[in-house]
Amino acid sequence: MLAIMTHILDGKGLAEKIREQIKGEVEVFKKKNGFVPGLATILVGDNPASQVYVKNKNRACMETGMKSFHHFLPSTTSQQDLLKLVSQLNQNREVHGILVQLPLPSGIQSDTILEAISPEKDVDGFHPVNMGRLVLSKPGLRPCTPLGILKLIESVSYDLSGKNAVVMGRSNIVGKPIALMLLEKNATVTVCHSRTKDLESVVKQADVVIAAIGKPHFVKGSWIKKGALVMDVGINRLPDGKLVGDVDFEEAVKQAGWITPVPGGVGPMTIAMLLVNTLQAAKNNM
Ligand code: NDP
Repeated sequence: MLAIMTHILDGKGLAEKIREQIKGEVEVFKKKNGFVPGLATILVGDNPASQVYVKNKNRACMETGMKSFHHFLPSTTSQQDLLKLVSQLNQNREVHGILVQLPLPSGIQSDTILEAISPEKDVDGFHPVNMGRLVLSKPGLRPCTPLGILKLIESVSYDLSGKNAVVMGRSNIVGKPIALMLLEKNATVTVCHSRTKDLESVVKQADVVIAAIGKPHFVKGSWIKKGALVMDVGINRLPDGKLVGDVDFEEAVKQAGWITPVPGGVGPMTIAMLLVNTLQAAKNNM
């Protein structure tokens, strides 16, 4: 039998390369237009994980030479005040991308806030207009994590056409958009969720596995078809503090043809794609 060589997909390395590229493009953009793209982030409340995410996003943005405007609001902020800020940022010509860090405190409706962001500045790609553009295969800002997954797949020149892709998870931010993007690349896509019957046998048929359910080591190595491409989106913290994905990496790596580690796989690509989207939003605005 032919031995399978597993390639571990280095999301961290690819994300660094993309960030360097963006830096160069920002330089060119500045020379051409006399200003730099700007990203505004809004954090409401003091969720520690969200604080870290927003800090990393702002730092990454500044490292590329783009402007970063951070708005920190207390957890007591009303929906109306938040809407007012979003409206101001929609008008602000220095701001090309707006990101509202989720989750928002209870009492504020995320949908209402996300829909208030101008679709042209919606660098998270969550606005119904951008989601609609994705469904219709029209150009638009795409959600960052699925976009990062596709870039990683493209980086190894993997041809998705005709492949059997199984997406685990149907969230609006990962599962649904990545399923649509894989479909756009001519994969045959199955979307699974908590009511799916006999998930194991569905996954066993997959040439491409996207695991985005948020359950540590849920996908066993024995579920992975020999040579499959496995993208592990899950970020789960174990009681000992260790970060792991939704896939049992140690076992799955023996079966897979390509696999992403956690950490260092899909995660770093998400921030890189936020920078890509911010630059794109600024270019679209010219
Ligand atoms: P959600 O909690 O919004 O969605 C989870 C999905 O998994 C749901 O569709 C749910 O089904 C499904 N699910 C849950 N349990 C099972 C099960 N036992 N069998 C099959 N399906 C199941 O999660 P997100 O999409 O927001 O995130 C998923 C994971 O990805 C998390 O670990 C998150 O931290 C991580 N993540 C990582 C990012 C990155 O940058 N790497 C970015 C975003 C998320 P149902 O709809 O039926 O409830």
